[in-house]
Amino acid sequence: MATANKLHVLDCGAMSCDLTWLLLKPGRSIRPRADKDRPVEWYPCTTHAVLVETDDGVLLWDTSCPRDWETRWEPTGLQEFFPYDQVTEEQYLDARLSQLGVSPDQIDYLVLSHLHFDHAGNIDMFARTGAKLIVNDKEKDWAFGYDGAFNGAHLKVDYEKYAFETVSGDTAILPGVTVLEAPGHTPGTMSLRVDLPDTGTMIFTSDAIYMGDSYGPPAVPAAIVNDLSAWYRSVEKIRGIAEETNATVVFGHDAAQLRSMRTSPTGYYA
Ligand SMILES: [Zn+2]
Repeated sequence: MATANKLHVLDCGAMSCDLTWLLLKPGRSIRPRADKDRPVEWYPCTTHAVLVETDDGVLLWDTSCPRDWETRWEPTGLQEFFPYDQVTEEQYLDARLSQLGVSPDQIDYLVLSHLHFDHAGNIDMFARTGAKLIVNDKEKDWAFGYDGAFNGAHLKVDYEKYAFETVSGDTAILPGVTVLEAPGHTPGTMSLRVDLPDTGTMIFTSDAIYMGDSYGPPAVPAAIVNDLSAWYRSVEKIRGIAEETNATVVFGHDAAQLRSMRTSPTGYYA
């Protein structure tokens, strides 16, 4: 089986948010009466990107949040709910890439799990590099199909200037690198499967599954779900592939998990 060569997890810091956005879980984000005076739990909503090296090219999965999040997100109002305020200079995406000696023009494929502003916030860095920009066809249709400048966390200024190539269904992109269609969170959310020679299979769920507590079983949904029954199907689809391949499943916004992983530039997976 073809495999990728090396995979770098780029820890890009965290937004802060009320956990209720991510996890509608009685006893955790939803309070019983005994806890009615306990404050809401604010959570470090970690954000990451993934750089994959293969014999046939280099792929970047997602781009995290932009440095100018506070002004760029202002029209949506969501900068007050998801401030990208737990980030150090070395954690911004551009810094993470340069720590690896990778310049944006060395990226052959930029694949976006979906076009929310905390995943598509730095496409600008790759605008003139010749990188192929790839997104799911249903995501593109939806993200370009609404009226106005934004809809929820889709913000046209992040992506509307760019020509995306689209994929549909589960699609192999490079040796050992496959995108998995996993709609529900948004109409065209995708997860990323990478097969590595020593580590085996890793699945990066992006927002198809926010965190370990969302995965369960049983799966626990979030406040932001475009289509709940599609979301449940996608979680079980990923679970099926993960069980079949004995994969390491890496969730989109799981702080404890991200902090337990080998992250760039000190560690990588091969
Ligand atoms: Zn999202």
